[in-house]
Amino acid sequence: MKEKDFATKLLHVGVEIDAHTGAVSTPIYQVSTFHQNIDQPQEYEYSRSGNPTRKALETTIAELEEGIAGFAFASGIAAVSTALLLFQQGDHILAPKDVYGGTYRLLSKVCGKWGIDHTFVDTTDLKEIEKAVKSNTKAIVLESPSNPLLKVSDLPQICAWAKSKGIITIVDNTFMTPYLQRPLTFGADIVVHSATKFLAGHSDVVAGLIATNSKKLADELYFLQNALGAVLGPQDCWLTMRGIKTLKVRMDHSQQAALKIAKALAEHPNVKAVHYPGLPEDPGYELLKGQAAGFGAVLSFEVESAALAKRIMRNVKLSAVAVSLGSVESILSYPVSMSHAAIEPHVRQALGISDGLLRLSVGLEDANDLLADLTSAMEE
Ligand SMILES: *Cc1c(COP(=O)(O)O)cnc(C)c1O
Repeated sequence: MKEKDFATKLLHVGVEIDAHTGAVSTPIYQVSTFHQNIDQPQEYEYSRSGNPTRKALETTIAELEEGIAGFAFASGIAAVSTALLLFQQGDHILAPKDVYGGTYRLLSKVCGKWGIDHTFVDTTDLKEIEKAVKSNTKAIVLESPSNPLLKVSDLPQICAWAKSKGIITIVDNTFMTPYLQRPLTFGADIVVHSATKFLAGHSDVVAGLIATNSKKLADELYFLQNALGAVLGPQDCWLTMRGIKTLKVRMDHSQQAALKIAKALAEHPNVKAVHYPGLPEDPGYELLKGQAAGFGAVLSFEVESAALAKRIMRNVKLSAVAVSLGSVESILSYPVSMSHAAIEPHVRQALGISDGLLRLSVGLEDANDLLADLTSAMEE
C-alpha cells in the first residue's frame, strides 16, 4: 500500500483502537503500578517507566515524525533538558542565538553546572556555525523558523554537515509540527516538541515530545526519561492525542489566515516590519518553501514604539494577550517581557528583538475579524 496521506495518518497511526475493548479512543490508564506475574517479564510495571496511554502518544509522535521511537515529557522544556543530558562534562553544544528563551536559560544557566559548555551562533549561516565549532562540539540545537523573528535556517544543509562531523542535530520542530516539516527525513538525529503548542493545540495542556530514528539514541533517551522522571501523565497524554487528530485542519486554517494578516499588516502605516516567511519578499521564503510543506501560523511585526505595542495589547479583544502559541484561539505576545524575558536586554537588542515587536500566533478565528481587531487596537 502507498504511504498514507498525512491527514489519514493523523487518525490512523495504528494505536487508535484499544486492543482490549475496541474503544476508538485510547483509554486513559490512570494508574501508577501494574499487577505483576512474578514468573514472567511484562510490558508495564510502573508508570514512570511506561504507561499504555503514554505509549500510544509516543508511538504517534514517532510515526508522524517518521522516527523509530517517541518519548513524552511533562513539558517541552523537560523534553529539551532530557535531550541535553545526553551530553556530559567536557562536551560543547551549539545553539541558535535566538533560541527559545527556556532553552537559552537551560544552556546558559544550568548546563554549565554539569560541565556542558555552549556557544550561541547565527544558524542561518553555515559559515558562522563552522567558525564556532570546537574539538569537543557534540551537538547542535536548531529551531527553524526561529522565535520571534521567524528566521529560516537551512536544515538539510546543516544536518548533512553535522553528520559529516559526527555532531548530533537536535531540531526543535514546535513551530512547524510534523505536518509541515519532518527533520528526521533530512538527516536530523532528534526532534523535540513543545506539544503544548500546535500538537495539543487548545491551551489546555503543557507537554513535550521527542522523536528519533536512531536505535542508539532511542535507548539512551529511554534510559534518561526513566532516570530523570519528567514523564507526561496519562490524562495529559490523552489530551495531546486528542489535539493531534485535528492538527492538519487547524494548521490549514491558521496558516491561511496568518498569510492574509501578514500581507495586510505589511501595508499598514503603523507597522514598520512584518516577519513571516510566507511573504514572498521575506528572506526565508524560498528556503522554507524547499524544506517545509507550509509556512506555519506564527508571525511577528514591529510597531514604532513600546507605547504603541502596549496600546495594542491593552485594546485587542479577540487575541489573548499571553505567552504560548499554536492554539485554537489567537495569542498575541510581547517577546521583550514574555518569551524572551530570560535573555539579557543587551543580548535581546542585538538580536533585533525590539521594544515594538509583537508576536501573533493565529488561531481559528476568521482572518478578517482578527485583522479588524488588531488595526482598531492601534488607534487611540
Ligand atoms: C514553548 C516552547 C518550548 C518550551 O515548551 P514548554 O512546553 O513551555 O515547556 C520550547 N521550544 C519552543 C520553540 C517553544 O515555543
